[in-house]
Amino acid sequence: MSANGRIRALNLVVVQGIPIRIHWTFFLLIIWVALTSFSDGSAPLYEVLFVLALFGCVVLHELGHALTAKVFGIATRDIVLYPIGGVATLDREAQPKAELFIAAAGPLVNFVLVVLLYPLSNFTALAEQAIGTQGYFDTSNTAQMEATASALNFWGHLLIANLILGIFNLLPAFPMDGGRILRAALALLKVKTATQIAARISQLLSFALGVFAIYSGNPILILIAAFVFMSAMQEHMRARTRSAAQNQVVQSIMTAAGSFQSFTHGTTISQAFDVAVRSYQPFFPVLHGDTLLGVVDRDTLLQEAATEAEDNYLSAIMRREFSTTTPNEPLSTLIEKIHEGADPNFVVLDGGKLIGLLFRDKLYEFLMLQDIRRANSTRESEQF
Ligand code: ZN
Repeated sequence: MSANGRIRALNLVVVQGIPIRIHWTFFLLIIWVALTSFSDGSAPLYEVLFVLALFGCVVLHELGHALTAKVFGIATRDIVLYPIGGVATLDREAQPKAELFIAAAGPLVNFVLVVLLYPLSNFTALAEQAIGTQGYFDTSNTAQMEATASALNFWGHLLIANLILGIFNLLPAFPMDGGRILRAALALLKVKTATQIAARISQLLSFALGVFAIYSGNPILILIAAFVFMSAMQEHMRARTRSAAQNQVVQSIMTAAGSFQSFTHGTTISQAFDVAVRSYQPFFPVLHGDTLLGVVDRDTLLQEAATEAEDNYLSAIMRREFSTTTPNEPLSTLIEKIHEGADPNFVVLDGGKLIGLLFRDKLYEFLMLQDIRRANSTRESEQF
């Protein structure tokens, strides 16, 4: 997920070196479940426990992906729990064979859980029967009866929930595991446009799901259909961005030294302001000889010029933290960094020396033009 997702998620536990985190919105779900069961008179504790147990199953599902990825030598950065489910973010994309196994491992965990829960839900059913026919328990003790019945409901419901999770995740649509299984299978069958085909099927399926959701009048289903549709679009766009960035390095699109404006540390804010108002450059390096001290953003300069004493030096308003790259860094890894929350304006350093700047707009424009030029797309995969 994005850097935002990381910041707004709490660390819960670390399993096999994989941090499992809870996104803050997950707590909203718990509160919502508790409040709604309070208002409709059902047992809030039962409902909250059920949601927690269900999310335990989701964690196991995600661990299924993560630990299978580990077998293929791919590390997992983290597993984040959202109200709609879990997301395991892998360190890098998997080859089709690995992707097939990694994707299939998640739903498989749910089906194993169904098998494991079966005797448990069955056992409580038998126990309840015993209570009814042989009177082992005091049948007038309604509290005990209710506790047994809700225990039956609990495991039985959890079994059904896992069955639904397993089947739903096998739908051949992104972001479901079935979409990845489909794509991996197509890629293994040497179908060149595997991602496009998989994305197209995803869109069709989410459209069908949407029609069904509207027909059924279930607002949750409508939301899920919309979510699936947008994820399929996003997956498609990401694949295209990857494809556009393929085999390209920073050097080919950076603005080289001599073609951009920089300031020395002795420049005053008012001097810099005069340059900035006549420039479209989004940020400026501040140098001391060959040493890069920091960068100052055009917007900051234009705003601060009004409030700061104009004789102050730039060092008063410059940023000392900024994104850096090297001339030979592939654009694909740069995009990866931006997805993770890096500032999309980069300073290009070669052996620590400033040799160029890479502006966000130029990067995006380049990717867009490449995308138009290229009809084909490469595989891309990172989240399960
Ligand atoms: Zn999954």
